[in-house]
Amino acid sequence: IKKIGVLTSGGDSPGMNAAIRSVVRTCAYHDIECVGIYRGYEGLMEGDFKAMDARSVKGIINKGGTILKSARSKEFRTKEGRQQAYNKLIEANVGGLVIIGGDGSFTGGLIFNQEFDFPVMGIPGTIDNDIFGTSHTLGFDTALNTVVDAIDKIRDTASSHNRLFFIEVMGRDVGHIALNTGIAGGAEEILIPEEDLGLDRLVESLNKSRKSGKTSSIVIVAEGDKIGKNIFELKDYVDENMEGYDVRVSVLGHMQRGGAPSCFDRVLASRMGVKAVESLLESKTNYMVGLLNNKIELTPLDNAIKGKTKINLELLRVSDIMST
Ligand code: ATP
Repeated sequence: IKKIGVLTSGGDSPGMNAAIRSVVRTCAYHDIECVGIYRGYEGLMEGDFKAMDARSVKGIINKGGTILKSARSKEFRTKEGRQQAYNKLIEANVGGLVIIGGDGSFTGGLIFNQEFDFPVMGIPGTIDNDIFGTSHTLGFDTALNTVVDAIDKIRDTASSHNRLFFIEVMGRDVGHIALNTGIAGGAEEILIPEEDLGLDRLVESLNKSRKSGKTSSIVIVAEGDKIGKNIFELKDYVDENMEGYDVRVSVLGHMQRGGAPSCFDRVLASRMGVKAVESLLESKTNYMVGLLNNKIELTPLDNAIKGKTKINLELLRVSDIMST
C-alpha cells in the first residue's frame, strides 16, 4: 500500500477530527500518502478526494464534528454505486481505506471489500457506544460529559422550583449514555431500552422519594426507553398520577453530538488512527480497531457489526442503590 484514504460516515461524533489527524500523521510517519475523502461514501463515489499531509491537519484535534464532513448515501447501497467508488479509488491509486463511522458504515465497508477485495479498516465513531468490540466508541466520553453538564444546570433550576424534570438523552437502542449520565447526574430514575421499569413503579418510586424529603427530581430517559411512551406522554402520565411537583421536560437533542472532544476521546482517537493505518500496512483487512481492557485491539468487522453490546448490570444496581 502506497496511499491510504480516510473518510467519516454516518452520524458525526466528537473525536472524529482527532482520528483523521492521527490517520494522516501515521501515514506521514510511515512515508506513505494519505487522501481525505469528503462526505463519506458520497464523496467516495464522486472522487471528492484531497491529498493530506501532516501539516494539513493542524489545529483540529480540539474541534468537534468532522472537517471531512459526513453523509449518508443511498447510492452506495447499490452495486453500481460501489463500482463507481472502486473506480475512483483505483484512479487515485488508493490502496486501503479507513472508515470512521458506525455499524452501518462498517456494513457498507465490508460489502465493498467482499465485492472488490479492497482493504478496509474501521474506527468506531458514534456517541452511542453501541458497537461490539470496544468498551468506548469515539465521542461517547465527550457526550457523557456534555450531558452531565446539562443535567447539572437543569438541576439548579429544578431544585429552586420543586420541579421534576424528565430529561431525554440519545440512545435509541442502547442505554449507555442514559445509565452513565443518570448516575453521574444523580438522577432519581433512569429509563433505558434494555429494561422496562413500568409506569406504576416509576410513579411509586418518585412518590417515595418525594415523601422522603426530596425537593427536586430528575429522571433520565433514553430515546428508545422500554416503557414505550414518548417523553411528553410520560410527563403527562406522571403529572396526573402524583402531587407535589411541577413536572417539566427537557430534550437535549443534537447538542449531545457536538463540542470539543474530551481528553479521553482525543487520546483514544490518536491510538485508534495509528492502529488502523499500521494494520493496513501489515496487509490486514476487514477489522475494526477498538479499546478492550485498555489495549487497542482488532475485532473482525463482521463481529463488530453483528455483536451486541450489553448494559452493565452493576451500573444498574449502583443506580438503584443511589436513589435510596
Ligand atoms: P450512526 O451511528 O450515526 O447510525 P452509521 O455508520 O451506522 O452511523 P448509517 O446511516 O447506518 O450510519 O450508515 C452510513 C452509510 O453507510 C449509509 O448511508 C450507506 O451509504 C452505508 N451503508 C449502510 N448500510 C449499508 C449496506 N447494507 N450496504 C451498503 N452500504 C451501506
